[in-house]
This record gives sequence, C-alpha cells and structure tokens, in this order.
Amino acid sequence: MDLYEYQAKELFIRHEVPTTPGEVCTTAGDAETVAARIGGPVVVKAQVKTGGRGKAGGVKLADDPADARAKAEAILGMDIKGHTVHRVLVAEASDIAEEYYVSFLLDRANRTFLAMASVEGGVEIEEVAATKPEALAKIRVDALEGVSPTLAREIAAAANFPEDVRSQVADILVDLWRTMVKEDATLVEVNPLVKTPDGRVLALDGKVTLDENAAFRHPHHEELIDRDGTDAIELRAKDLDLNYVKLEGSVGIIGNGAGLVMSTLDVVSYAGEEFGGVEPANFLDIGGGASAEVMANGLDIVLGDPDVQAVFVNVFGGITACDAVANGIVQAISMLEQRGESVTKPIVCRIDGNNAEEGRQILNEAEHDLIELVETMDDAARRVAELAAARAAGK
Ligand code: GDP
Ligand code: MN
Repeated sequence: MDLYEYQAKELFIRHEVPTTPGEVCTTAGDAETVAARIGGPVVVKAQVKTGGRGKAGGVKLADDPADARAKAEAILGMDIKGHTVHRVLVAEASDIAEEYYVSFLLDRANRTFLAMASVEGGVEIEEVAATKPEALAKIRVDALEGVSPTLAREIAAAANFPEDVRSQVADILVDLWRTMVKEDATLVEVNPLVKTPDGRVLALDGKVTLDENAAFRHPHHEELIDRDGTDAIELRAKDLDLNYVKLEGSVGIIGNGAGLVMSTLDVVSYAGEEFGGVEPANFLDIGGGASAEVMANGLDIVLGDPDVQAVFVNVFGGITACDAVANGIVQAISMLEQRGESVTKPIVCRIDGNNAEEGRQILNEAEHDLIELVETMDDAARRVAELAAARAAGK
C-alpha cells in the first residue's frame, strides 16, 4: 500500500526523522486557518499518490494565510497524472540551500535491500539516475544486519555528502531504516532531503510503501487505508476478507487458488479475442476451503459489479471436494435471492478434480436457468466470453 506524503511524514515523526510540521486540509478555508496557525511562509502541496507534483504545479509557496488560501484554491481539484487533488498539505516552508535524495527499498531482483543516495536530489532525480548513474550511490543492506551507524556513514560517504552534513545524514539514514523495519515498509524514499541555509537537514517530501502482508502486525495501519481513493468494490471485498482485484473487462471471475485464477484470466482474455476483445472484469481467489458463505460473498461482489456481463466460476476440487463447492454455488445463489438481490447474469461453471462427478450432478439437478456447466476450462472460457459479448450487445 502506497501512502500519501502527509501519512509518510506522520511515520517519519513517529520515528524521529526531522521533517517540517504541517496539516492536511480539504478546503482552501482550512488551508488559510492552518497557515495562520503555523505563522510565516508555508508550502501548499497536493496530496496525490503520484510523483512529479512539483513539475505539475501541485507544490506552491505562500507568503501569508490569504496567499495560502489562494494557492490551495488553485491546487484543490487539479488533475495530476490522472489523480484528482482532494487534499493539500499545508506545512511550514523551508529555505533550501541544497537538495539531496535518499531511499531504502526492497531489491527483489537481487534478493536484498538497497540504499540509494545522491547529493543531486530534487525534481530531476530520474534524469540524474538515467544520465549520471555515478551520481547515485547504491549500497546493499543486509536484512539481518540492517543499517548500523557505520553503514549509514558509508552510504553518506559513497554519495559524497558534504562533511558538514554527513553525520546528520547518517543519523537520518539510521532513523529511516528503523522506519522501514518497524513499519514493515518495502520502500522509504525522501526526495528532497534538504539542507537549510542554517545547516539543518530535513525531509521535505516522503514516499512510503507498506507491505500489506504484514498488516496484521500493525493495527494502526488500518487508518492509513485511503477509503475515498480506493475502488468501492475492492473496499467491500476487503471488508469481506476476499482476495479481489478489479480489472477493466466484462467477465467476472471466481476461482480457488491464485494460480488457477491467474490462468483463468489468461484463457478468458484469449477466448475473448474472438468476441470483439472480451476481457476479465476482476481477479477473485476464494481460496482452498471455500465455504458456501465465501462463495456467496464472492458471487455477490462479482455480480454486483455493473461492468460484469457474465461470470465464470472455475473450481478445481482438492481439499474442498467439488460436491461441496457445487452445493456452495447453489446455496450462494439462493442466499443472494433471499437477500433480495435478483441474480440475472449467466454463470458458467467448470468444476473438476476431487468428486467432480458428484459436483456436476448437483449443479445439473439444481436446474438453475442461469447456471451453465461446461466440461473444460477452454470451452468454458469461450462460452462465458460469448455470453458476455451477447449480453453487452443486447443492452
Ligand atoms: P514532488 O514533485 O511530487 O516530488 O514534490 P516535492 O515535495 O518533492 O516538491 C517538489 C519541489 O518543490 C522540491 O524539490 C522543492 O524544490 C520544492 N519545495 C517543496 N517544499 C518546499 C519548501 O518548503 N520550500 C521551498 N523553497 N521549496 C520547496
Ligand atoms: Mn519529491
């Protein structure tokens, strides 16, 4: 999960990384009030989960509260790379003598963590990385040893930080690494880390990505979830503990096991070419021991997606036998009907594996108008794509 700058800075403050105090606002009036409380010049910054806000005009200095209001008015509602600005951070403005770059990230390709640092930070860092790779120091960080004060000084030295800020930068690197470990982040990036004219080093921007697999260890991360900015169906699925990802197409997909669901996406996409480019509408893995209730929740989520024209339930019976899954499907549909939700979209089922015969028999005997049983995964994919295309055309 990527965080907004203001959330990243809250974590920085918790782990004693020096940064400028500020408050997040949703209206220009609030921005004025906060600027008055801070006193003196402030910076008004668009809060969107994308970089390059400065270049897009989403970061502006303001001399006084009235100016902060005007700058917030200009920034709120702005579109930055497809992200609408709903909030601005109003923070004490800093004078900048130099802009640096530091980050820690999980380097998956090399199976390690990596520290990156440069004294040429700021809005051109991508350009620096591309054209002057020698200006960006890269040092491996061992997961178990972490960033000791000695390694932090080595990183600062490798990046040629000036002597007068080296020990401050090294301290900040240790604090940022602690933030990374304590919060279970996969990325902690500060660009720019600045030196002020009076020689202090501060994090003026922050980017943090949290590892959601570790969410159970961090009850306070719950409040960092961006409920307004997340797809409504994904949020409902999350609340139901379903492993769901919204996609762009029109075929709802339900399967058991992530690998099976991913290959289902591929076969549907391939079969859909014949029907004018029909594509999957989602990824949904209901897991190994899927009960009728989990199947009902899954069907509810997928059928409730207005983009979905037809559903493909692709199940391979293993520990959960096919007869249990088939019963689950039948019960799920009656559960939905009892909840008052009329089921009107065709559901193509392919069930195979443990007790497949019994499972198919249950679905056949249910004689549900909308359930169609197809033997193989490829044929089922073709059929569901055909049904989705037909239903879309009939609308
Ligand atoms: P980004 O463009 O999305 O990475 O947003 P940043 O927070 O990094 O801001 C972009 C640029 O705005 C920075 O590189 C700074 O040059 C400038 N900036 C940000 N905050 C301040 C501030 O408090 N004072 C001054 N003078 N410039 C700032
Ligand atoms: Mn930045």
